[in-house]
Amino acid sequence: MASTSNSNLDTSTDEKVASSESESALETARRQLYHAAAHLDIDSNIVERLKYPKKVHEVTVPIKRDDGTVEVFTGYRAQHDSVRGPHKGGLRYHPEVTRDECVGLGMWMTWKCAVMDLPFGGAKGGVAVNPKELSSAEKERLTRRFAQELRDVIGPNHDIPAPDMGTDPQTMAWLMDAYSMQEGETTPGVVTGKPPVIGGSEGREEAPGRSVAIITQLVCEYYDRPLDETTVAIQGYGSVGANAARLLDDWGATIVAISDVNGAMYDPEGIDTASVPSHDEEPEAVTKYADNVISNDELLTLDVDVLIPAALGNVLTKENAEAVAADLVVEGANGPTTSTADSILAERDVAVIPDILANAGGVTVSYFEWLQDINRRAWSLERVNDELETEMQAAWRAIKTEFEQRDVTWRDAAYIVALSRIAEAHEARGLWP
Ligand code: NAD
Repeated sequence: MASTSNSNLDTSTDEKVASSESESALETARRQLYHAAAHLDIDSNIVERLKYPKKVHEVTVPIKRDDGTVEVFTGYRAQHDSVRGPHKGGLRYHPEVTRDECVGLGMWMTWKCAVMDLPFGGAKGGVAVNPKELSSAEKERLTRRFAQELRDVIGPNHDIPAPDMGTDPQTMAWLMDAYSMQEGETTPGVVTGKPPVIGGSEGREEAPGRSVAIITQLVCEYYDRPLDETTVAIQGYGSVGANAARLLDDWGATIVAISDVNGAMYDPEGIDTASVPSHDEEPEAVTKYADNVISNDELLTLDVDVLIPAALGNVLTKENAEAVAADLVVEGANGPTTSTADSILAERDVAVIPDILANAGGVTVSYFEWLQDINRRAWSLERVNDELETEMQAAWRAIKTEFEQRDVTWRDAAYIVALSRIAEAHEARGLWP
């Protein structure tokens, strides 16, 4: 059995972790594994295997600061499971990156790739550093050296990083360049989320918001709610929130509230979302354009049909879950609902469509980017968006089937789909213990 010595997680009971509002990513990922496994007739040895990452790489990354001194940072790459294909997941630069966080988020990526039926397994990594304290040149040196330290464990057939908190397309371009230089050949497929000029995909940036909009449309259709009679409140007006808001607005929904870190714009008649700059276009400007400002807490409990938390994690909690007035919650952010809030919303029959489905457009278009890279072909934006729609509909259908047949929540249905696919692959290949 694998050692758990590096983890302070007590996995002995599901209830213990479920009772906590402040679950770590690893606790959440494991709780969801046990929860889905309880609904399925799968070999308990496979569940035991999936509790642990395959490998966790810890490296030290020295960089020369602009003042000539050398500083050493710690970086990680946690590779959870690769039974369905190469590892896939982001690299983040954040002061609170830890080994356990990378393991938990890597597991989360395994479930997300499997929900979308992508031929990838999960991984996550990062460097414990505050990127705001690095100059651009320092960030480039950090990225190139980190790429070198990970060179043996990443690659288009092994593990394919992508941008995450504190990293962006430029970071991926440096990483791809450093890797390619050392390999002696241009290898665009080593990372996704690159600028299109070096093999990035059209539509990658908008993809998570687009998938949130597609899933919102499908869930409204399922509950017989025409989009043009549907009101929506969206927390966060960044990459995910603004793209979802504008698409749903285009498709006929009435967006009554949008927000950023400073507060929310509220207009019961509907907001013209194109006229409000997104976080990328003008950071934190939503309230500047609002006639009627309410708080983010008020936004979460507005009497709307659909609530889309698309800013940050743990915003729906035991404190406000009773007051959520929306009938449908579509998770745009990662982990916006605590486990206690999730139980309260389930008891109240509020449908919560989980993040691993709703915002999976990002990793899905990353998969398209990887396909384009290894085939040396670029797809049009139209093709990317069409194929994304097809993949989202297929994932939705698979989850809907479990939801209807098993009488479980949408979240459980998504994890059941993911775990069945992973378990079947392990069953077919064998664990080789
Ligand atoms: P972003 O930085 O582009 O935008 C974040 C938005 O949230 C901004 O409008 C910001 O003002 C707002 N915000 C920040 N703190 C807030 C607070 N306390 N209250 C209300 N609003 C606040 O970020 P993003 O890329 O849109 O990511 C949003 C969420 O979606 C995160 O949970 C992220 O992990 C998740 N996500 C992002 C992607 C992606 O590829 N962009 C993919 C999947 C999931």
